[in-house]
Amino acid sequence: MKRALVTGGSGGIGAAICKRLAADGHHVIVHANRSLGKADAVVAEIVAAGGSGEAVSFDVTDRAATAAALTALLEAGPIQILINNAGIHSDAVFPGMSGEQWDSVVDVSLNGFFNVTQPLTMPMLRTRWGRIVNISSIAGITGNRGQVNYSAAKAALHAAGKSLALELASRNITVNAVAPGIIATDMIEGTFDADAIKKLVPMQRAGQPEEVADLVAFLASDRAAYISGQVISINGAMI
Ligand code: NDP
Repeated sequence: MKRALVTGGSGGIGAAICKRLAADGHHVIVHANRSLGKADAVVAEIVAAGGSGEAVSFDVTDRAATAAALTALLEAGPIQILINNAGIHSDAVFPGMSGEQWDSVVDVSLNGFFNVTQPLTMPMLRTRWGRIVNISSIAGITGNRGQVNYSAAKAALHAAGKSLALELASRNITVNAVAPGIIATDMIEGTFDADAIKKLVPMQRAGQPEEVADLVAFLASDRAAYISGQVISINGAMI
């Protein structure tokens, strides 16, 4: 049984990824920041379905707190599957974007990637097997009005993942990004109504978190051993 950490496991896409990885037989560490109760509920669902999991909470922007939490988790053994899924958006047209909006979004997605991934890399390397999947966004590929901060942070994840994939390839560790389009979670509540989704998405519907989770679980499996350094879109034919 491999140990998997899913950051933002308390959120919509993260919870679906946690349940999928648990169903695939992994021990899943369901991470939350503010919503530990939601992570506990995901663990309860996993255990009720016969799987194995535990909940943990820390702020991925807090390097010291993240390092302390990861050190404690690593005492039970290496984490071989890492899904960097925690993310926020704070949208504004660029002339009106505050420094705080820029910093907060870059902090969670990009600095969070470093803070979580770097301490886990050496223990993963020693096992000669690993999977890292960064959840980015279509905005990181095409850009999006009002999301200069978010699209910059997500595109930076693509580049970071490609470089890391090169460094880790000889040790059977793959690093990929999954770039979703519009997925039905709390994050898009109030942003897109049904009409907007019909206009924007050729398939005329939002994706489901479980659809993203299936792709992530494939990339985290042995079957995806030769896929690394890629950005894989899942967006109902938006691009
Ligand atoms: P949610 O808002 O449902 O979940 C976001 C998650 O990120 C929560 O678990 C939250 O934890 C966690 N998080 C936020 N800030 C921090 C922090 N400082 N430290 C640690 N964890 C934090 O979003 P989604 O499930 O929709 O999104 C998941 C990922 O998918 C994100 O990276 C998002 O950018 C990406 N994405 C989503 C799309 C969509 O349409 N929904 C489209 C494209 C990409 P908590 O609640 O416990 O505080």
